[in-house]
Amino acid sequence: MKPQRIGMLGGGQLGRMLIQKGIDWNLRFKVLDPDASAPCAGISDFTHGKLTDYDTVLKFGEDCDLITIEIENVNTAALHELERRGKRVYPQPRCIEVIQDKRTQKQFYLDNGLPTSEFLLTNNRQDVMAHQGYFLPAVHKLGREGYDGRGVQVLRSESDLPKAFDAPGVLEKFVDFKAEISVIVARSSSREVKSFPAVEMVFHPEANLVEYLFAPAEISSSVEREAEHLAQVVIEKLDLVGILAVEMFVTKDDRVLINEMAPRPHNSGHQSIEANITSQYEQHLRAILNLPLGATTMRCPGAMVNLLGEPGYEGPARYEGLEDVLATEGVFVHLYGKVQTRPFRKMGHVTIIDQDVESLKKKANFVRNTLKVKA
Ligand code: ADP
Repeated sequence: MKPQRIGMLGGGQLGRMLIQKGIDWNLRFKVLDPDASAPCAGISDFTHGKLTDYDTVLKFGEDCDLITIEIENVNTAALHELERRGKRVYPQPRCIEVIQDKRTQKQFYLDNGLPTSEFLLTNNRQDVMAHQGYFLPAVHKLGREGYDGRGVQVLRSESDLPKAFDAPGVLEKFVDFKAEISVIVARSSSREVKSFPAVEMVFHPEANLVEYLFAPAEISSSVEREAEHLAQVVIEKLDLVGILAVEMFVTKDDRVLINEMAPRPHNSGHQSIEANITSQYEQHLRAILNLPLGATTMRCPGAMVNLLGEPGYEGPARYEGLEDVLATEGVFVHLYGKVQTRPFRKMGHVTIIDQDVESLKKKANFVRNTLKVKA
């Protein structure tokens, strides 16, 4: 592999797992992150700085051959300028811009005839109040900078409306779904496209974070085909190079609606490291380096448990139950190198693989109840 200097905006756990794969291919990474103790800090050529600052991003990218991201809240004007100066920037800044704001994202689905829940773009609380009847029960989402459930509020009745945040957002009809699934799809600059089999996400009711993930999703083969097809159509319509996670709802009558997407490796693809022929991280590198995309076939059913900071504990992290979990066959622990824990902070994840789906679920529950991050 030709020596290349890859610059990555964001130095969190997704970047850390991307670097882990990149090491196998002699790739070198430069990383920019606003947190001096970010998960990538000790394992890369690390720059401490703001991802949303034009000059910082421009300067960071100047000596890179290729620039990628592991978080979408970055300064895209600087990325456009780097592109103009001949750098390869994948995903492309115009794709990041569509996705960065949930408002432009929803509009993109509508403009391209892609199925998504009915919605209304709102500028402030007054707009939300004005459309009460039709959209209730509704989900109100902040346009920019909401993530992991932050910036998402459920408005069930008229009495909830005054609680609506007063900022540009999207008001969506509440979808009474039976499952939340995700399909990760990759596309290289020579336009090869490959999707991973759909996975099913189960959310933590309080934290609004994925608590468990199961692969394959327990859906009919026609829903599976539809979900993979939609993910492929989305990446082609966006003309995106890199990896794209497409989160979808499966309704009770088996329709598939797109919820949102992320143009980078995603929480819903962690299990692919152990459970698939090619991991999402390797696939992202293949896509942005314009190498042949790898097979996405599952080796084995897999589950993923997010390791979240236990509520009630804040301080230097310690991992309780680690030995019991490691004594279980087919269990893989990934810790993200975050020193401090706090309630619901993503501190790591555990992948479990097992040929037998019932035994897989039992082990996932065991891991969930045994391994605790405390201070
Ligand atoms: P985030 O970017 O914070 O992950 P999402 O848009 O994915 O925000 O919303 C978080 C969660 O809220 C979803 O995973 C889903 O469980 C729920 N949700 C979002 N939109 C809707 C909707 N229209 N109807 C019902 N539930 C929804």
